[in-house]
Amino acid sequence: MNIEEPIPGPSTQSVHAGSPRQRPGHAITTPITQSATFTFVDSDDLSAFMQSKIWGEVGEEGREEYGRYGNPSVNAVEKRLAALEGGEDAVLFASGMAAITTLLLASLPTGAHIVMTNDCYRRTRQFCTTFLKRLGIETSVVPMGDYDAMEAVIVPKKTRIIISESPTNPYLRLVDFAKIAEIGRQHKVVTLIDSTFGTPINQLPLSYGIDYVLHSATKYLGGHNDLLAGVIIGSAERIGALRQAQGVLGSVLAPHNAYLLERGLKTLALRVQKQNENGLALACYLEAHPKIERVWYPGLESHPDYDLAHQQMKGFGGVVSFTVKGDYETTKRFIDALRLPYIAPSLGGTESLVEQPAIMSYFEKEPEERLELGIFDNLVRYSTGIEDAHDIIADIEQALAQIG
Ligand SMILES: *Cc1c(COP(=O)(O)O)cnc(C)c1O
Repeated sequence: MNIEEPIPGPSTQSVHAGSPRQRPGHAITTPITQSATFTFVDSDDLSAFMQSKIWGEVGEEGREEYGRYGNPSVNAVEKRLAALEGGEDAVLFASGMAAITTLLLASLPTGAHIVMTNDCYRRTRQFCTTFLKRLGIETSVVPMGDYDAMEAVIVPKKTRIIISESPTNPYLRLVDFAKIAEIGRQHKVVTLIDSTFGTPINQLPLSYGIDYVLHSATKYLGGHNDLLAGVIIGSAERIGALRQAQGVLGSVLAPHNAYLLERGLKTLALRVQKQNENGLALACYLEAHPKIERVWYPGLESHPDYDLAHQQMKGFGGVVSFTVKGDYETTKRFIDALRLPYIAPSLGGTESLVEQPAIMSYFEKEPEERLELGIFDNLVRYSTGIEDAHDIIADIEQALAQIG
């Protein structure tokens, strides 16, 4: 009889996945290996290690050589993240941007072409359309949800990668993972989903045939607004190549941050569950409020991707975007009247954060340029933390009461 091991649930995985049962000194936590380099007993030990590397053999468990090529504290978290996403392997980076820039620099030749969906993290777009452009790599940006447009811009042999976020920032639009994976397969183009807003608790893009999943681990994965990190998960072969490239480009995560990330991950499922509840409660409250113009939240029937959200997500996350009835100044006054969330960029942590994108991420743009990018002056992005929903809502209520 073939007894299959049951797949552990996400909360169990958040705590245990990839961890050895016994650690050095019988500690329950992964020690912080604060070491830049790793020593060899003698020259034979060194040459045996080098041989095993050449032959791609599995050497001594946890045997490292130099901090840019690997660190036990970092590797432990990589294993957990790979398990949570249902991937074979993962590689951690110093930040989300370090992850995306390392992958693209390492894998794209001059003359390559990128297809990207709009409404995406603006620094990713900036990296592709300015930095990579200088290296002779072109980027086409297509509207979210327009799969015909996506196929139409693919250039055989030149297009190497399709990049999309899901949900996006700030309008929380989704892409259909199965459709993107199919387009990638048909045209022999690699696919990447930035799943930062989704988290492995709410969605698993790899299970639809997507090649790479990327996260800014600064957000939900770390979850405490106390570290920057990035991660890419995929097949052992792809991640192995990426790890080699990282050894050259040097965008590694520090062991101390890996420890903080592992600690944060233990409560990932609990936190995201709470943030799913808070996000939905806030979105429903706002949608019924007469001083609110429009709400974007994938769990609301009014959202363009409501059906898709129910197919491919288990929860819709903690971020809610909305427009206040009024102008730039009214919206500023509303935000300044809030007492609970901090005004700050970022999302996904334990503390609720709020921002007016017109002042925060898009401040240097002219109002017309902002509108072209779809950023309204009265737009607010609220990222719920793990506070109680009734406190978040009561605070919004008193702030809206103050704007007349
Ligand atoms: C924050 C963010 C990034 C960049 O990550 P950093 O850790 O800040 O470098 C990339 N993608 C998305 C969707 C993000 O929210």
